Amino acid sequence: MHKTATKLADGRELFYYDQESGTFRDAVDERPLEPATSLSETRLDPVLGEWVTVAAHRQQRTYHPPAGECPLCPSRDGRLSEVPAADYQVVVFENRFPSLTPDSAAHVTTQDEPLRTRRPGTGRCEVVCFAPDHDASFADLDEAKARLVLDAWTDRTAELSALPGVRQVYCFENRGEEIGVTLAHPHGQIYAFPFVPSRTARMIVRAEAHRASTGRNLFEDLVAAERASPERLVLRGEHWTAFVPFAARWPYEVHLYPNRRVRDLTALDEAERAEFPGLYLDLLRRFDRLFPAPVGSAPNRTPYISAWHQAPNDGGDELALHLELFTIRRAPGKLKYLAGVESGLDAFVTDVSPEAAAARLRAAAPDRP
Ligand SMILES: [Zn+2]
Repeated sequence: MHKTATKLADGRELFYYDQESGTFRDAVDERPLEPATSLSETRLDPVLGEWVTVAAHRQQRTYHPPAGECPLCPSRDGRLSEVPAADYQVVVFENRFPSLTPDSAAHVTTQDEPLRTRRPGTGRCEVVCFAPDHDASFADLDEAKARLVLDAWTDRTAELSALPGVRQVYCFENRGEEIGVTLAHPHGQIYAFPFVPSRTARMIVRAEAHRASTGRNLFEDLVAAERASPERLVLRGEHWTAFVPFAARWPYEVHLYPNRRVRDLTALDEAERAEFPGLYLDLLRRFDRLFPAPVGSAPNRTPYISAWHQAPNDGGDELALHLELFTIRRAPGKLKYLAGVESGLDAFVTDVSPEAAAARLRAAAPDRP
């Protein structure tokens, strides 16, 4: 992996990731861009003990632009985008409309009243473009390009974790309009949080309780148990295991763990990194096969969320790096909405049994050449 760092016209950082060393990236951002101001803050919900990020400035962000005005396509034919180069492989840059910003402390003061705890929304939000082709999807990448994305996620995790105030780095992809994606171009995002999000915090509590009661690690026990029983297993690699969780929340949900427990992406070894692209692409292609398109129509693209769970910088030693991949589609043309029970109480009801979902995902194997 070869990385080139540059800056956009408004001072934001941008990084090109290329497979070949010696790739020369010197295009200059020629847009007349003023630095954007951001008033991001985080507020602690005193009832639930969860942080909420308030980023009111994001209302002006780009919303479903026409394909010809996509800000994530390369800059070519006189059209200037967020990426100055006329072509790229994988590129990462700071979001122009971030939820969390490095300079929030300049605009937002800390408040420590028990019922009104407020902090600057210090952190960083980055955009990861997986490919220059506007109509591509992650599942269309070859293994070498998917590996390049993994290398970019890993590099960003290392760099963002080192920033002052950052406690957790979260790499994720939202795919599909049904998920609320506002730009069709294949891309993901990275959030560097100044707090430990509540899901991670709950996992830490559960893993610590498991250690206290069994003397063992929760995630190691979980992966060993799922590898040993075929019911919910989807893929069993040499270094990774993919399964539908016992208490899956979503119609189709798969968790992918390295067999050797590590804290975060930076701790994966070469054998694990080499096997990941093939397994992950296989999973994404299985998702796209769950709801086949009618003959003669465009190939089906299952909407999904793909989320990397990593341990916080400080603590969380019992956590295990893993990826959670799930779709909100439960049948062709039917979505699972988070309604009264889920949104009102965080109590999920799913109408696809996890074992049946696993069987369907096993049967959705991509054709082998
Ligand atoms: Zn595009």
